[in-house]
Amino acid sequence: MSSVSISPRNYQIGVCFICQLCMYCGINLSFDNCNCNKDIKPTKNNHSKVVYFRNLIYKPEQVHETTKNTLLRSNQTYGYKLDMKLPHNFTLCSACNSQINRDVKAAEKEQKNIIVISPSPTDDTSFQQSQIEFRLRLSIKKNKQSFPSIIISFTLEDPNFVNFRNKLEMYICEQVGLIYQNEYNLAYKSSTESGAGTLLDNEDAFSEFIKDYYQTMILGNKKVMVIITLKELSKKHSRQDEVSEQEESNDELENRTHFIKKLNHYQKNVLKVIYQKNLI
Ligand SMILES: [Zn+2]
Ligand SMILES: [Zn+2]
Repeated sequence: MSSVSISPRNYQIGVCFICQLCMYCGINLSFDNCNCNKDIKPTKNNHSKVVYFRNLIYKPEQVHETTKNTLLRSNQTYGYKLDMKLPHNFTLCSACNSQINRDVKAAEKEQKNIIVISPSPTDDTSFQQSQIEFRLRLSIKKNKQSFPSIIISFTLEDPNFVNFRNKLEMYICEQVGLIYQNEYNLAYKSSTESGAGTLLDNEDAFSEFIKDYYQTMILGNKKVMVIITLKELSKKHSRQDEVSEQEESNDELENRTHFIKKLNHYQKNVLKVIYQKNLI
């Protein structure tokens, strides 16, 4: 049935504002009428058929946009001709009240999803200043043995490979003493990923790292692990060592390929945001 056939009327506090259900007799008054006194505001004690209802105090500047739109539509459908810029008291039946609550929840969820798609660790202004707060698990390996990993967190302004590595070196030196750039390899992976990780040795690799950091941390909600492997400069490599190093680098290549494949899945969104924010 089209809304044209609904005759305009004044809103009466005894009926549901949205669906015209009479709170006293339970009849829908869209195309019908009843003998109840609908000018009386329903309370817990004075209505019979309809047990649950809501007294809504409508304040245009406070009501959720979704609810407001629903109410505006009803104002039009039933020809109440109320000035919706002013506050009013309305009654809602339980069905309509549940529906607007669901609509508000759905709208809020959608809004949250939009925030996730354009990843930003916090919605403060740190992004505009090109600041990134890193929270990482740092694992140091020496002679094929691993030190217990530690959680580190720091903030970098205009992060790049050099200032990132310099910051990490501070933590590495705390663990193993003075160390120089050529004395270790730097790699990363997500804490749940297996394999040797992805080598982090230049600005290009760092750009990839940032993308993966957001993907893993923000979208995947997992920790990123940074792996420091100390080289043994003085010791001569045995044949066996060489073989296992060869294996490791193959492993690494495989990981990198896997990583790029995985990245493609999210690439569009993440790349877009990173470029928008001028992170790279
Ligand atoms: Zn209703
Ligand atoms: Zn009635």
